[in-house]
Amino acid sequence: MRFFEAHVHYQDRKLVTHWPAIAAELTGIGLVEAVCNGTSPEDWQAVADLSQKHAWIRPAFGLHPWQVGNVGKGWLNELRQLLLSDPRALVGEIGLDLWMLRAARADDPRLTGLNRAPIEIQEAAFVAQFELAVELKRPPTVHGLDAWDRLVQLLKNARLPAHGFLLHGFSGPSEYVARFIDAGAFFSFNGNFLSPRHARIRDIFARLPLERILVETDAPAMPLPESHRKYRLPPAPDGSTPNHPANLEVTYSALAEIRGTSTTALADAIESNFYRLFGGNRDIGNA
Ligand SMILES: [Zn+2]
Repeated sequence: MRFFEAHVHYQDRKLVTHWPAIAAELTGIGLVEAVCNGTSPEDWQAVADLSQKHAWIRPAFGLHPWQVGNVGKGWLNELRQLLLSDPRALVGEIGLDLWMLRAARADDPRLTGLNRAPIEIQEAAFVAQFELAVELKRPPTVHGLDAWDRLVQLLKNARLPAHGFLLHGFSGPSEYVARFIDAGAFFSFNGNFLSPRHARIRDIFARLPLERILVETDAPAMPLPESHRKYRLPPAPDGSTPNHPANLEVTYSALAEIRGTSTTALADAIESNFYRLFGGNRDIGNA
């Protein structure tokens, strides 16, 4: 089987600590290519280094909404230079996050030490990066936690990328699907959606057009439910359980089951979707 990872953070400390073993396991499952997303100027170089070491890692650079409140001046120009320096580089992870502002607990360990930027500031950073992606023709990857309605509004007035964009970890509502599809969206399915409480999201992915679907782990975030964890990592120092990115394999087969198709047929479609969205050279991959 040929697997394609649409959205992951290999540069994260929780994965880098175990990197040689993880890289071997990814090769073992048949991972062909992966889009590795940076989140702030602090980790862009680590993403670039990984992508230089492994031809199957496609780098993406962006300022994540959680990081918008923590960045110094000059980041946008730095991002532009970085994109110009590598023709394979994509834009991501960018987006909007209202969960962080409305629902996240004050002591959520994932947000420790972060200034939570108000939505207007997040929107300004998102629009600037989305426009840069269009200008440089680098398909962007968009995060929209609890903010898909704001994104629908913003996209109404935006210039859109010629080959589309990725809504990573799309969680609905289903009423927005048609509008996002019209704007050129692809939607990536995350293994965390296999949890019993996410039946509504699985239902959306059961019905999305096959030619707009991708699969992601978002590792080390978004662990799969215990019942589906095939690959495991030891707990991180903060007590969290990092998601092993080789669980991409399980996520593919679970999505195939949800859609009532074979994993092979799903994998073929995802390969062609991956290249249609992200472009690139089929000969570069890992397999
Ligand atoms: Zn992510």
